[in-house]
Amino acid sequence: MMLRFASLGSGSEGNGLLVQSAQTLILVDCGFSLVETERRLNRLGVCSTQLDALLVTHEHSDHMSGIPALARKVGCPVYGSFGTLSDLIQELPEQIRIIRDEESFTVGPINILPYAVPHDSREPLQYVFNSGELRFGLLTDTGSITPHIERSLQGCHALFLETNYDPGLLEKGPYPASLKARVQGPYGHLSNEVSSRLAQRLDHQGLQWIVAAHISRKNNTPDHALTELNRALGNGVDRILIAAQDTGLDWISLGCP
Ligand SMILES: [Zn+2]
Ligand SMILES: [Zn+2]
Repeated sequence: MMLRFASLGSGSEGNGLLVQSAQTLILVDCGFSLVETERRLNRLGVCSTQLDALLVTHEHSDHMSGIPALARKVGCPVYGSFGTLSDLIQELPEQIRIIRDEESFTVGPINILPYAVPHDSREPLQYVFNSGELRFGLLTDTGSITPHIERSLQGCHALFLETNYDPGLLEKGPYPASLKARVQGPYGHLSNEVSSRLAQRLDHQGLQWIVAAHISRKNNTPDHALTELNRALGNGVDRILIAAQDTGLDWISLGCP
């Protein structure tokens, strides 16, 4: 079985993550206009009509603003928690699939485990994707690491992991004090250090790829994120990648473990 993923773009100006196994294609989150989504999908060799399912992590606009128009166009199921999708239930009753923390479900050959995270939205879920022996974990938009998160992400062959801010750059940066407090609070975002420590603690024996994601343009740089991940993982993983806001990330295939 194959499992691969690609990013349409990652960051507070819009997110979208493709996950594919065999012919089954899933898009997680969509924070772009329909035109822009199609453009970014085409860049990755995909047409929106090929999408089999949309998954939503939470209702913040950088993750959900493009979902209604895309869902209407494609007509496929839209999966998310009740809190996340409550505004869409009346609008798209046929397509909405309510899912819950720890209740896994399948789309084609992909088994998906939703897990709850602390973030300042109604009912946020992040996801782990399994296909055959392969396991791919997603974690962004999370304020702090819980034992539940650590358990859910064990044994992944690839991680798509938020490294939102560098504490020094956030402190010196342009955000007002209230927003700085929100970002680094327990329901905000993950810093380079906190994510790197998580990656280090997880069993990364089989980890083939780690992607630094949701990097702030104002309070971080790709270099800061990479340096911190490299320091934490040492030689453990030599394939550390960046998911960028404008260019996303080209397809990455997981190899047989
Ligand atoms: Zn976000
Ligand atoms: Zn968010």
